[in-house]
Amino acid sequence: MNCVFCDIAAGRRQAAIVYEDEQVVAFHDINPQAPVHVLVIPREHIPGPLAIAAPHEALAGHMLVVAGQVAQDLGIATDGYRLVLNQGTLGGQSVFHLHLHLLGGRRMRWPPG
Ligand code: AMP
Ligand code: ZN
Repeated sequence: MNCVFCDIAAGRRQAAIVYEDEQVVAFHDINPQAPVHVLVIPREHIPGPLAIAAPHEALAGHMLVVAGQVAQDLGIATDGYRLVLNQGTLGGQSVFHLHLHLLGGRRMRWPPG
C-alpha cells in the first residue's frame, strides 16, 4: 500500500520527528498552518477518524496523551492549543492515514474554516 504516513512511521520517508514510541509517531507538518503544527499518527494504518473502532480505544487515547506531552515539550500548553481530526472530503482530510493535528503558537479562530 502506498501511504506517506506509513512510510514516515517505518522510517522510509524523512520527517522532523518530535516524539515516537512503539504505538505512535509525532512530527512537524510539512505545510504548517500555525507556528507549531505537529501531527500525531498511529504506526498502524487506520484510514481516518471514522475507522477508529473498539480495538483502537487505547491507541486513540494514547494519541491524546502524546499530543498533550508534545504541547508541553514545545511550550504551547500554557497559552493553549487546538487538536483537530479531519474526516473525509468535507472534513478536509487529504491523507488517509489517521492523524491528530496539534496546532498552537497563535490565537485560533472559531468557527474553523
Ligand atoms: P489532512 O488535510 O487533515 O488530511 O492533513 C494532512 C496533513 O499532512 C496536511 O497538513 C499536510 O501538510 C501534511 N503532510 C502531508 N505530507 C506530509 C509529509 N510528508 N510530512 C509532513 N506532513 C505532511
Ligand atoms: Zn498508512
